[in-house]
This record gives sequence, C-alpha cells and structure tokens, in this order.
Amino acid sequence: MPLGGRFALAELPYAIDALAPAMSAETLTFHHGKHLKTYVDNLNAAIASTPMEGMALEDVVMQSSGALLNNAGQVLNHNLFFSQLRSPRPDNPPTGRIAQLIDEQFGGFQDFQAQFDKAALTLFGSGWAWLSVSGCGTLAITQEPNASNPISRGLTPLLTADVWEHAYYIDHRNSRAEYLRALWTLIDWDVVNLRLD
Ligand code: MN
Repeated sequence: MPLGGRFALAELPYAIDALAPAMSAETLTFHHGKHLKTYVDNLNAAIASTPMEGMALEDVVMQSSGALLNNAGQVLNHNLFFSQLRSPRPDNPPTGRIAQLIDEQFGGFQDFQAQFDKAALTLFGSGWAWLSVSGCGTLAITQEPNASNPISRGLTPLLTADVWEHAYYIDHRNSRAEYLRALWTLIDWDVVNLRLD
C-alpha cells in the first residue's frame, strides 16, 4: 500500500525463522529482505512523478508497462507469496471451501497438486505458477513468466509458487522439485480461503 506516496516493504507476518527447515531464515533474509526490497525500491523510483503515483498496487500492475510493470508485478507477486505461508506441517491438505472446489474441479488434492507442480516445474526460466479463480468460480492453474500476475487475465490469484531461482537456490540448490515439496508444507489454507471470498 502506498505510504506517504511510496510503497513500503510488507513485513513478514511471522518470525524470520518460523518457516524453517522448509524455508530457512537465510532464504527469507535474502528473498524478502533483499530481492523484494530491491523491487520495492525500484518501483518507488520508477513511479515517482508519474500519473500512477498514489494508485493501489493492483491498479499499477493493470495499467503500467516496462520497468514499472516489472517491479510493480514483482512486489504484488511477492506480497501474495509471503503472506500465504506459515510454519511447516508435514501433512498439509487444503481445508474449507478451497478444499471443496479442488475436489470438485480437479478430482482431489493429489491430482490438483500434480497439475500445479507440472506447471511450476515446466515453466522455463523465471516466473510464477498460480492457482486463480474466475468471476464465475472456476479454478485455473497458470504459468506466468517473469513478473506477470493472473489479475492481468481477469483472474483472482489464490495461491502461488515463486519459481525464480532466488526462491530456492539457498535451501535446495538447483532442485525446483524439492523446493516445491517443501513449499506445500508451508501453505496457509486459511489465507487461500480468505482470497477466495
Ligand atoms: Mn522471488
């Protein structure tokens, strides 16, 4: 949210070591404290003295292009990513309404997980895998390159996997698959359900 006309680095809603060992404090120190901080700083520099200064972040993403879009998109994506996590639970199936929708539309959590993982694993280069919902309640799994967000397709983002290498190289080296297995243990399904409402 704009703070005195500027976007602020969103604070993590948990302690820096709360996601360990699935996601280490060192990863969060770099991913949140350095990578996201840089996107926030670059966004503030790019938006200064433009007509979009003071707009909501989602509106900037919908209406901008170039460096401004790239940095605004990355700030929005990371805010959604970090706020959907909580301390690891080895067995962490979805709950509530999202569990129902996943069962109805994907035939169960395991089938959904397999499709989501495939999207995340086959995304070439840097980007994001997303679970989103359309206005009529249809779930969609999409691959978004670089800084893209499904709001640009008219979808509401529910859940995301950051598959930029900076998201996993410290804890999992080159293994995007191992990172995804760890990420599933961290998903806060209460947050996903709130986004659905
Ligand atoms: Mn990232």
